[in-house]
Amino acid sequence: MIKVESLTKRYGGFTAVDDVTFTARAGRVTGFLGPNGAGKSTTMRIMVGLTPASSGIAEVSGRRFADLPNPGLEVGVLLDASAQHAGRTGREILTIAQRTMGLPARRVDEMLDRVSLTPSEAGRRVRNYSLGMRQRLGIATALLGDPEVLILDEPANGLDPAGIRWMRDLLRGYADQGGTVLLSSHLLHEIEVIADDLVVIGQGRIVAQGTKAELLAAAGTLVRTRDVPTLARALVDADLEFSQTTDALRVDADPDVVGDLALAAGVALTELRAADGAGLEEMFLELTSETQRESIREGAAA
Ligand code: ADP
Repeated sequence: MIKVESLTKRYGGFTAVDDVTFTARAGRVTGFLGPNGAGKSTTMRIMVGLTPASSGIAEVSGRRFADLPNPGLEVGVLLDASAQHAGRTGREILTIAQRTMGLPARRVDEMLDRVSLTPSEAGRRVRNYSLGMRQRLGIATALLGDPEVLILDEPANGLDPAGIRWMRDLLRGYADQGGTVLLSSHLLHEIEVIADDLVVIGQGRIVAQGTKAELLAAAGTLVRTRDVPTLARALVDADLEFSQTTDALRVDADPDVVGDLALAAGVALTELRAADGAGLEEMFLELTSETQRESIREGAAA
């Protein structure tokens, strides 16, 4: 498993990762979700020893990455699929990794097959690969040493819908066999379909974490009516928190509570249901728009 405890990374006066604590468990796919610039890559780079932490601990299988004798056999890493030697072929890149890890030569063909790169594709230079092909090659490299832990930064980038489904099935199978998978994304829906657990990060800080089921269940109730003012008044009187989306209200209470309240207030409802995921989506949109405001401000200052 992967354990991160009170991890902080400062660049000068700027805190990119701020007191981050979470665990990615064996047998589960953990989604690391956050808008661009939230601190996902920095956290993952610290985990695999590419960036030193300012403080805190990051451990893979109970040890710091730097203390793993043959790291490729313990943890498969894909951070930047484009960071390959562009003049080498896919097969050459895999062969170098196979020899470095001291693995049998047949692993190369097994992995090419596993990620559906054909022999002719494997013989092409990486500079001529599409981003999707680079991602497949990166995943092949990560899987080469048959590790128990996978750390993948935005692995779905550049994959077409069929590729995303392929990757989802691959990671699901891997976790079902007891593997630990940590993967990052800046897209909620992409991660929602793949992950069992979610860790949500914004501006370097963890803003939510738990099982996907818990985070989706915490969403409250979605309710629609043609008489919003009366319902809103009833909610305020009952001390219930709510927010208004374009054409509905989201209430921090169960649907039966909201239904009873509407009945008592004499308000006809046109829709009443558990707002699965709506709370998470709202929170995520808020994070994303905050980040966008930050960059607009930075842009204006520059
Ligand atoms: P994410 O992967 O979530 O998009 P990153 O971890 O790449 O986010 O970046 C988090 C923040 O840290 C960003 O604001 C980024 O500009 C900043 N950052 C990342 N690397 C450096 C660096 N080497 N020096 C200064 N700032 C950095």
